[in-house]
Amino acid sequence: MTKLCDSYQRPINYLRISVTDRCNLRCIYCMPPEGIPLMSHDDILRYEEIWLVARAAAELGITKIRLTGGEPLVRAGLTDLVAMLAGIEGVDDISMTTNGVLLERHAAELKKAGLHRVNISLDSLRPERFHKITRMGKLDDVLRGMEAAKQVGLNPVKVNMVVIRDTNDDEIPHFALLTVSDAWHVRFIEFMPFMEKGKKNHSLVPVSEIMERIEDLGKLEPSAPNGIGPAKYYRFPGAKGTIGFISPVTRCFCQQCNRLRLTADGKLRPCLFSDAEIDLRGPLRQGAAVEDIKQLIRQAVVSKPERHKLVAGVTCERFMSQIGG
Ligand code: SAM
Ligand code: SF4
Repeated sequence: MTKLCDSYQRPINYLRISVTDRCNLRCIYCMPPEGIPLMSHDDILRYEEIWLVARAAAELGITKIRLTGGEPLVRAGLTDLVAMLAGIEGVDDISMTTNGVLLERHAAELKKAGLHRVNISLDSLRPERFHKITRMGKLDDVLRGMEAAKQVGLNPVKVNMVVIRDTNDDEIPHFALLTVSDAWHVRFIEFMPFMEKGKKNHSLVPVSEIMERIEDLGKLEPSAPNGIGPAKYYRFPGAKGTIGFISPVTRCFCQQCNRLRLTADGKLRPCLFSDAEIDLRGPLRQGAAVEDIKQLIRQAVVSKPERHKLVAGVTCERFMSQIGG
């Protein structure tokens, strides 16, 4: 039973940790082509500091940790961090969201260090289009990374596809059918207008439409939740894989929100879409003890807003790669 509850009686048991703002891709919906002004190395939390925050969070009731970025696998020694987090009492699930490019190289050591599972972001199965969306990625690298993750047992390996109108939405059926033929677990995510602040979200394909297009292939049946979080899960009858829908824009899932986010520069963010942050790096570097960090985490939890304002067109000041999604 979690001990941490926010002001709206939501249990908070999940911490997403962004370990870097750096990335080896430049996805069109996440980063400008030239990248973003990078945080200095000194500004980024050291592994010992991340560990201390995670330990304080675990003592308060956080049981699940996800590593994200930027691209988490570009940070040197990430396996060491996984091992450190795996040693924290009370943490029973460590996962990672990655673009998969470097996964083939690291999958086995990550598993051994205590990583449980991975989500791989993959928006196209056409090499040229994949390259265009990521501005530099090679599809084969990701597919090999995914295979390596399956081989070493980082299961379930989930695929996150951000659906972008007139860019990759014609691939919805292909991704959906892979849940039958190859037992993939695919999650379709609504495009969020991070790069198009203040403009109408023309690239959005609402989850209702994605689902309709999939049901043209065959009726979906509800499936048990495949992990924690905002996705609603379905499957084709008899399929081994599942289909998840994540609708941050058209169907607010804030009522079920169970998470806090730690940015790479040590700010605790109670809500993805709100710029309110609590600084942990300053106190950490002034010698804060676990009890002091616990107090700041409690403060962040109490200040969690009831819901985000994305529907009203409000986004946030940071890029997605600086928060970790
Ligand atoms: N680099 C890693 C990756 O791509 O998986 C982790 C960081 S990335 C910011 C985390 C997730 O955010 C990815 O699944 C990505 O597709 C998603 N994301 C980034 N920008 C988005 C946007 N504008 N709309 C919807 N999802 C977005
Ligand atoms: Fe990098 Fe992930 Fe953002 Fe793509 S979505 S640019 S891989 S951080």
